[in-house]
Amino acid sequence: MRDGEKHTKSAMIAVALAEDTSHTEQDQLVRNGTRLICTCGDPRLPPAQDLSWGILISHVVAELAWYTQHRYSLPIYYHGCPGEEVLSNHSLRSTDACLRLLDPDEEPKYSGYKVEQSVADEVAAVIAGREDAPICKICSNLTKENSRWKSLYLPKDVKVLAHHMKTKHDVQLTKNLIVFEYFRY
Ligand SMILES: [Zn+2]
Ligand SMILES: [Zn+2]
Repeated sequence: MRDGEKHTKSAMIAVALAEDTSHTEQDQLVRNGTRLICTCGDPRLPPAQDLSWGILISHVVAELAWYTQHRYSLPIYYHGCPGEEVLSNHSLRSTDACLRLLDPDEEPKYSGYKVEQSVADEVAAVIAGREDAPICKICSNLTKENSRWKSLYLPKDVKVLAHHMKTKHDVQLTKNLIVFEYFRY
């Protein structure tokens, strides 16, 4: 079985979709009234009308790969610092799947990651003043030096940064959590 099919199958089992659900039906569930959602609420995902089953599954697979990469990149002698950890917030296991198939009258619930306007303004000012892309300080601390490279860069987008802090580290975004390092590769 190809990887894509494998993930699709896991996703269908995770949300208890019938095995004979067609591609069109899968897409409709994602698009129509947002019945099938990823609970992480990633602001980088397109709005529901532009989503497809494929985009949603690729998103989950990319998040899983990101977490695996993080585990491989932990500093060897890292024993953990209080409050410094990366949470695994995506899963295709049915016990803790990040995907949810909502009941027809159920409102989607996403991870909340709102930041106060004053903090948002501070962070926006910090990232606007730099040419390099911002990096999450916690992720950087948790990545061994020779694995620190461009994959640590985050977009210059306060919403995305706030979402990252909340869903990956369960902390609120502050300007002190944003650092800048330059990588050639
Ligand atoms: Zn997600
Ligand atoms: Zn981080």
